[in-house]
Amino acid sequence: MMVLMQADATAGQIEEVVSTIESHGLKPLRLPGDEHIAIGVASAIPPTVREPLTATLSALPGVDHVVQISRPYKLASREFWPQNTVVQVKNVSIGGAECVIMAGPCSIESRDQLFAAATAVKSAGGKVLRGGAYKPRTSPYSFQGLGEEGLILLKEVGDALGMVTVSEVMAPEDVPLLASHTDILQIGARNMQNYALLIAAGKSGRPTLLKRGPGASIDEFLLAAEYLLHHGTKQVILCERGLYSLDKTYTRNTLDLNAVPVLKHLSHLPVIVDPSHGTGVTRYVPAMAKAAVAAGADGLIVEVHPEPKMALSDGAQSLTPEQFAQLMQDLERVANAVGRTL
Ligand code: PEP
Ligand code: MN
Repeated sequence: MMVLMQADATAGQIEEVVSTIESHGLKPLRLPGDEHIAIGVASAIPPTVREPLTATLSALPGVDHVVQISRPYKLASREFWPQNTVVQVKNVSIGGAECVIMAGPCSIESRDQLFAAATAVKSAGGKVLRGGAYKPRTSPYSFQGLGEEGLILLKEVGDALGMVTVSEVMAPEDVPLLASHTDILQIGARNMQNYALLIAAGKSGRPTLLKRGPGASIDEFLLAAEYLLHHGTKQVILCERGLYSLDKTYTRNTLDLNAVPVLKHLSHLPVIVDPSHGTGVTRYVPAMAKAAVAAGADGLIVEVHPEPKMALSDGAQSLTPEQFAQLMQDLERVANAVGRTL
């Protein structure tokens, strides 16, 4: 942290900044400049002190502004943990050399539907089966998911095919149920800042796939991941899934592929991309899936439905089994070109 003083700050005002820093048990460092004096904090600032101290210092007379030097998150930061984190779930490693493809229906609708989707995903090389049982829908009249019945189907199909599973949890009290039926908890974009949910998922210690909110900055996203890590989960997967778009006519969201290299730079956590919600349109999913892998994503989460026209949710962005199989072939070449396997 660095406190920049106004050019006309008095000696008394500078002293007040110095003594305020000292009163928090921290070591101030005077940095004289040509026009302004800056006062740095030479010792590590405890995370709980940073915010109130910044507010106090910013309000002192003679202070121009306060600059943060280190990042607001710690456990999620590469400064704190330089090596890549590899999230190991059964036989699947997310964040290593392999680019991991997660796929399946938006919603679990029936045993037949899930089994058909899962078989297609597995035979094309997908490693993780996705399927929503608790669905965050904009309208209360839209299909809300099969709930526990859907989770039972997911476990059954995942076990039968030997696939790792991921499903969304929407409420803190549902974490134990989700944790007993799925391998990876998914926290959806709408719930990225649901702190009670982040705390409950974090405390469960389970691998958690955290989606970026459609209006969330990178720092807000990493602070949400920090909640999970701070409360006990070590295995966090970040997922970019598109931001609110200027254009709603042609795409549902704007897939922020900048986020992939930015997050990989700032954080040690694996980063995956959801081109299905990112575009909202089946036709555009393959191009953005390939672009994501080329940009360095550690994996993808893709919606696949045996019959997208009949889907109860997100059929317009779901791939058919044939389209998914073709995508997997194309992705392999892209992955190899950037030094990854599929
Ligand atoms: C989903 O994965 O089906 C979903 C609802 O995603 P998001 O939270 O990204 O909208
Ligand atoms: Mn969906």
